[in-house]
Amino acid sequence: MLFGGIEAGGTKFVCAVGDEKKNAIKRTQIPTTIPEETLARVIRFFEGFELDAIGIGSFGPADVHPKSPTYGMLTTTPKTAWRNVPLMQRIHDRFRVPVGFQTDVNAAALGEAAFGAAQGLDSCLYITVGTGIGAGAVIHEKLLHGLSHPEMGHILVRRHPNDEYPGRCPYHQDCLEGLASGPAIEDRWGEKGVLLKEREEVWKLEGYYIAQALMQYILILSPQKVILGGGVMKQELIWVHIRQYLKELLNDYIDFPQLSSRMDDYIVPPQLGDDAGVKGALVLADQARQEAKGRGD
Ligand code: ADP
Ligand code: ZN
Repeated sequence: MLFGGIEAGGTKFVCAVGDEKKNAIKRTQIPTTIPEETLARVIRFFEGFELDAIGIGSFGPADVHPKSPTYGMLTTTPKTAWRNVPLMQRIHDRFRVPVGFQTDVNAAALGEAAFGAAQGLDSCLYITVGTGIGAGAVIHEKLLHGLSHPEMGHILVRRHPNDEYPGRCPYHQDCLEGLASGPAIEDRWGEKGVLLKEREEVWKLEGYYIAQALMQYILILSPQKVILGGGVMKQELIWVHIRQYLKELLNDYIDFPQLSSRMDDYIVPPQLGDDAGVKGALVLADQARQEAKGRGD
């Protein structure tokens, strides 16, 4: 059995062909330029393989609702050349196999659940802190999905009393993403996060907000592992402050070692690094195959 996995990102597409165990037997990266060019290269990569199913984890916003008429399409993405591109349909039209379609964050969550930091557990939460803040929750190998996919980056947090930065979310202004995303850091401190490494106050404030969000996610979902990825999480200092604030906030209310002495092993970076998305896309492919089989397609 062979699966195709596509992590469709705003700067690059990572594609892999995986065997039955989702081990990548071939892999490539293709720059995201204009849709015609990028998709032609993606299709060329998979040609010559007898794929059983394909999974796509896509940048967005994209429509991930199977019943919607625009399912599998990129919608209001800021990358204007990609607006209204029926990404899933294009791939399906060419290969005629079941295609699974999810957000990039959800695909990465599935990848980490199946093969990464949460391997062997029944549940996990994967959060990315980068250009935006988003999260995917996996329970028994399935993504938590309801009316839509969760939008955990836009929850409200208590403002730090000394923080005068107004926030930059176009919808909610000072929601978590508005206050703590990579662009918010750059806006507030006047420099990109990567150049603020030595500025403890930057990462302390960042930890203050992310810890509040984690407290809410943990209280609501009770995941067995919390995985934090994305560019901003590459800063070492942030981890110390997140764990410290979180311990203070929870205040031993939940009596589990994961939330006290063993927090270092509970709130962790992704184990698959940059491969989480494409690995998750291979899992999505398998799930799409099984669903199609269940429907008798
Ligand atoms: P994206 O979210 O676009 O997929 P990233 O996860 O790399 O990509 O997030 C990009 C954001 O993270 C930018 O705002 C960037 O300034 C910030 N960022 C990237 N690398 C670092 C770093 N090492 N330290 C702090 N901030 C970073
Ligand atoms: Zn918001």
